[in-house]
Parts: sequence; structure tokens; C-alpha cells
Amino acid sequence: MASIAFIGLGNMGGPMAANLLQAGHTVRAYDLLEEPLKQLQALGGAAARSPLNAVEGAEVVISMLPAGKHVADVYLGTETTDGVLDKLPYGTLVLDCSTIDTETVNKVAQACAFRGIDMLDAPVSGGVAAARAGTLTFMCGGSDKAFARAQPILADMGKNIFHAGAHGAGQVAKQCNNMLLAIHMIGTSEALQMGVKCGLDPKVLSEIMLKSSGRNWSLELYNPYPGVMDSPASNGYTPGFMVDLMTKDLGLATANARATGSKIPLGEQAESLFRQKQAAGDGRKDFSSILEILA
Ligand code: NAD
Repeated sequence: MASIAFIGLGNMGGPMAANLLQAGHTVRAYDLLEEPLKQLQALGGAAARSPLNAVEGAEVVISMLPAGKHVADVYLGTETTDGVLDKLPYGTLVLDCSTIDTETVNKVAQACAFRGIDMLDAPVSGGVAAARAGTLTFMCGGSDKAFARAQPILADMGKNIFHAGAHGAGQVAKQCNNMLLAIHMIGTSEALQMGVKCGLDPKVLSEIMLKSSGRNWSLELYNPYPGVMDSPASNGYTPGFMVDLMTKDLGLATANARATGSKIPLGEQAESLFRQKQAAGDGRKDFSSILEILA
């Protein structure tokens, strides 16, 4: 069992850290907010006063933060705070599970390599339900050695663990996946809204499409129409996965497409719709609330 520092106990990080405790690891965590730290303490974890305090004595550091800026601040430091990499001994394993830009991954990975620290970008898919159930999919970028070291720890939080390639490859896989997720969530919302406008029951329509060629993950596990299943839509669009975070991910995908000359007309349209939703003041709602702007 490992001594693990966990930074970022949000909707995803909280249950991931809880599963590490459940598996028998020692977890010392840090978050900007008090409440998730208290919840982890109740499960047997320790609460740190700062990122630097969290990583003291840790063999493994895991981060689950909103965006690249937060990851850079924690690992590399800011004008006023030291980064945690300066405190980590040679041979520490760093796993950043946040969804962030590849430029930040490369900066942190270079700073790790300089200090003899193994690092993986290891973003995840599956949402809060999979984070709780310990069935996340991990998409990793980094060396074979770092991947081999990380596998048993990732297996305590997830079910499917992929090595996508070198540093940044995990993030590219995640960008592709979330662009597709945004597109099928919008498509599912359009189909349900149109059916309901024509007088169909959204539950019956969902059942029909689940047994037909329109079947997809959003429809099956995350239905955006309120009252169809136990999903954020049936809970006032409480996240789950926030519109702000999906908009960030679509921004990463469209920036990547511009840089590589990839054609993604539906990805661009999805980004535009999620930016409209964000501009309407709904950034902190679950992303399946995109259905509301089609109403
Ligand atoms: P969240 O906003 O719920 O959690 C982020 C946590 O980080 C918060 O508790 C916040 O207080 C904390 N935080 C922010 N800055 C910090 C700092 N400097 N030091 C310590 N803590 C800090 O977000 P989330 O939904 O848990 O998502 C986290 C990451 O996982 C994001 O990159 C997101 O894109 C990705 N992701 C989310 C989901 C999902 O379904 N929610 C699914 C897959 C991937």
C-alpha cells in the first residue's frame, strides 16, 4: 500500500480519494474548500493545510483539478507560492488526472523529468457515478515505466486503464472523447425535445431509441430529460459534470483542431452551444442542461 497525497477533492477527486482509502492506502489530501476535507477525514483520510503539507512523505501524488492553470500553480508554483515538485524526492510518482491542455502537461512533465520524478497525464472518463463505483476509464500519457508503476494504484479507482502514448497522449484521447460526448449529448437532447414537442412521452421515446440505432451513452446512462431516470436532469441539473468544465474541454479540442488542421465542424458547433449556455449564467449546472437551450 502507498502513502498518497491527493490534491483536489471535488465531484471527481472526492470519491476517487475515498476509493484509495477503501483499498488500504494512506491518503493525505488538500482542497481549497473545508467541506470535502472534512468528508475525507470522516473516512479515515488526513487533511493537509496546503499542497506542500499534503505531499510531505508521499510516495505518490495525485491531482484532480479544474484546469491547466490550477495544475501548473500546484506543481510549478506561482509568484507567491512554491510548487510541490521542489519538495518531492527523486523517484516520486506524479499522476495528474485533471483534464488540461497538453502545453501544461509538457511543462510539468519536463520539470518532473529534471528532478527524476515519474509523471503521467491520466485523465478519466465515466463521470461521478464511475468515480464513486471505482470503475473509471483512465487514458494515460507518459513512459512505460511510469505507466507500469501507476497501474496498480489506478486500478483501485478504475476498471479500464489505457496507455495512449507519450506525455500529452492521454489528454488528446480525452479531448476526442469529450468532444464526442458533447455532440451525442446535444443530439440526444435535440431528439428528445422534438419528440416531446410532438406529444411523445420522453420515457417511452428513450426506451424506443435505446433499442434502436440512436442508442448512445447519454441516452442510456445520463438521460438529459428530467424524470426519465436517476440522472442530474432529474435533480435540477445538479452536477455531475459542469457546463464550465465541458466548455473548457471543447475549447481544448477546438484549439487542438486548429493547431493540427483537423476538421471538426460538429465539435465547433458544440463549443458554440455550450458557450451560449455558459453566457446565460448556467456554467455551474450539469452539462446535460444543454437540453434547456433547445426548449
Ligand atoms: P470540481 O470543480 O468539482 O473539483 C475541483 C476541486 O479542485 C474543487 O474542490 C476545488 O476546490 C479544488 N481546487 C481548485 N483549485 C485548487 C488548488 N489550487 N488546490 C487545491 N484544490 C483546488 O471539478 P470535477 O468535476 O471534480 O473535475 C475535476 C477535473 O476532472 C476537471 O479537469 C474535469 O474536467 C475532469 N473531469 C470531470 C468529470 C465529471 O464528470 N465531473 C469527468 C471526467 C473528468
